[in-house]
Amino acid sequence: MLPEELDGVLVEECGVVATVDHGEASNLTYLGLHALQHRGQESVGIASLCSNSMHIRRKMGRVAETLTPEDLSSLPGDRAIGHVRYSTAGGSVLRNAQPIFVELRFGPVAFAHNGNLTNADVLRRQLESSGSIFHSTSDTEVIAHLVARSRKDSLEEALVEALLQVRGAYSLVVLSREGVHAVRDAHGVRPLVLGRIENGWMVASETSSLDLIRAEFVREIEPGELLTFDPSGLQRSQRPFAPVTPTPCIFELVYFARPDSTIFGRSVYAARVNMGRELARSTSIGADLVVPVPDSGVPAALGYSRESGVPFELGLIRSHYVGRTFIEPSSSIRHFGVKLKLNPVAGLLRGKRVVVVDDSVVRGTTSRKIVKMIREAGASEVHFRVASPPTRWPCFYGIDTPVRSQLIAATHSLDEIRDYITADSIGYLTMEGLRRACAVAGEDGTDGTRFCEACFSGDYPIELSDEARRSNAKDPASDEAG
Ligand code: AMP
Repeated sequence: MLPEELDGVLVEECGVVATVDHGEASNLTYLGLHALQHRGQESVGIASLCSNSMHIRRKMGRVAETLTPEDLSSLPGDRAIGHVRYSTAGGSVLRNAQPIFVELRFGPVAFAHNGNLTNADVLRRQLESSGSIFHSTSDTEVIAHLVARSRKDSLEEALVEALLQVRGAYSLVVLSREGVHAVRDAHGVRPLVLGRIENGWMVASETSSLDLIRAEFVREIEPGELLTFDPSGLQRSQRPFAPVTPTPCIFELVYFARPDSTIFGRSVYAARVNMGRELARSTSIGADLVVPVPDSGVPAALGYSRESGVPFELGLIRSHYVGRTFIEPSSSIRHFGVKLKLNPVAGLLRGKRVVVVDDSVVRGTTSRKIVKMIREAGASEVHFRVASPPTRWPCFYGIDTPVRSQLIAATHSLDEIRDYITADSIGYLTMEGLRRACAVAGEDGTDGTRFCEACFSGDYPIELSDEARRSNAKDPASDEAG
């Protein structure tokens, strides 16, 4: 259920793909989305362009289970964009699925967006009061309306004019008769990468999409960059937005991105192993086994084990056949879901002092179930280690971290969290440790990158204009420690 405090604010986690100048554009887009399934399992959609006509298929559910060969053969053309989406609540309906499709004076245009805007409500109210009619609650439709209202001569110019009015995080791909546009907000919060496939191009949220279709990684689309592929095959780049210090999302490296991806110039896997090493350095304890919470805690647990010398064991086995159901967002199924998903290997754990490693603790309900499970399997001690700092603040830029009242670290001390999850001890990674783990090169352990760390610190790098978002954020006047 949508928490009251965030009523009206749709929090979305998404992945986007665009394929340009390839005879099998929709098939490649489909595969690209398959490799981004972890970024959203609620709906999937592809739009393609053929002989100036737009074709679009959007469905609720996962890529492989919902899009059929018939769907794909009804998406002809050598250009396509695609989207996978998960929203926390409120918008779990097909009309919120993307790509969004609109008929403008530029012809048919499709948009697919990853991220969340922080002034979408303000803009929506302004647009509605001057006559705009919205069909969905998605932030992306706000961008489409702003484009529609622009008096500029080309879609590219209208898109720039629209994006100059929005605040927040977006990695956006747009398909039209003018070509394909791929754009990343000036803060570069969400990742977006560029690949080469034969004579064509692929743009995707993560390199996992490129790997699957054997596209060559070219580079990341830079924060604030708008890349255009026009119909004659020309590619051009521009930076139409006022430059700001980029703040890529550190939680992508902690949890969200796939470990086999390279984003923000870093291997996600290596960063997570480093997080485990850092965690062991600061929170080590006498133990017999290090056990990851699969899958999200595996690389960090490996790092913890290597650093501490405590043997690594897969003491929890994950079922990969747990489907997402329409009732999953309710808290009752979250509780039940842990049992469906994980089972302990009793023979390994009996009589052992176990360190359990997970990437993050959000509400604390999963950790509590896991500790209980490991104890019931006979462990003599259970020590919980978290490979990121306490999650104390909601995300307004596209990660589903709930309102403050539901974040256990926002409302409980460390000892209280330990007691709630019934562990013998608890330890979190420090912010400095996380930064060191995410740094590439740099003798002092940092490389100068400033990440968005708002979920840990409450310092939001992009202004929050919408009331529902602002009221959940840290009061700028408060000196509350993050
Ligand atoms: P919780 O029971 O709410 O504390 O859930 C913690 C678990 O959720 C950890 O195993 C994380 O890997 C995972 N997690 C962290 N952030 C998210 C997110 N935004 N969406 C879904 N799962 C998450």
